[in-house]
Amino acid sequence: MPHTPGDLAILLRGAQHAVVLTGAGISTESGIPDFRSPGGIWEQVDPMEVGSLSTFVSTPERFWQFHRPRFSAVDSVQPNPAHHAVAELERRGIVKSLITQNIDGLHRRAGSAHPIEVHGTLDFGVCLRCDARISRDEMLARADGAADGVPRCSRCGFQIKSGVVLFGEPLPAAAINDAFAATEAADVIVVIGSSLLVTPVSTLPQMVLRRGGSLAILTEGDTPYDEHCAVRLHGKAGVQMAEVLNALDELATA
Ligand code: NAD
Repeated sequence: MPHTPGDLAILLRGAQHAVVLTGAGISTESGIPDFRSPGGIWEQVDPMEVGSLSTFVSTPERFWQFHRPRFSAVDSVQPNPAHHAVAELERRGIVKSLITQNIDGLHRRAGSAHPIEVHGTLDFGVCLRCDARISRDEMLARADGAADGVPRCSRCGFQIKSGVVLFGEPLPAAAINDAFAATEAADVIVVIGSSLLVTPVSTLPQMVLRRGGSLAILTEGDTPYDEHCAVRLHGKAGVQMAEVLNALDELATA
């Protein structure tokens, strides 16, 4: 029998310490393409060409030519019912921590106070040479004001990178430590919209399973953990998560 949103509601209601882990699939209903789905970003560009540290250092114009429009694209979209449902589960005290691989900021805009952003964020700019940080607005103003579209550091002149982690760059240590600590405490982990193919985040469900906890996955595509799920939902995250909230409300009044 296929699982239902009601099954996930029951799992969440019995959880002592539920953690949610999200990936690019939670934001596709907001209009931001993921990487690996049909029509996803990897069908359009070579990720190594536009998303790696080496490209950023060697051809910053190419890097910023690709990334500048994506800032405006993210600004023009809204959080969808799945982001709102996760925020509501946090407000109700059911979800204790939210770990996200996304860099789009939609969880915070939906009301999640402290998402653990393990792949960084578009919210600031940083100079890789002297480590100076600037605000996102300042970074974009400098990009728009530069003849080659590349924002530069006012201290040392090197090109500015956004706070998003690039291929070849280490993950932010504080965020990764927070993600592991949150997962260590979890008896239930709910994965929403992730293929679970990117390490080290892909190891988090294993941590919960090894300690006898439960895994739920709500993702359209296959994942390496599908056979280990207590609850496995397919379908659209926004639709399914709204139904999970409804089912929780029904359980509360039953
Ligand atoms: P992924 O592209 O590897 O996997 C996304 C998964 O979500 C796929 O299995 C897909 O079938 C599923 N999916 C797509 N739309 C869905 C929907 N509406 N409902 C339910 N499932 C849906 O993404 P990933 O696992 O996050 O890993 C790849 C990397 O993508 C991450 O490092 C992340 O930083 C980066 N990324 C982020 C964004 C963003 O911030 N919105 C966008 C693209 C890529």
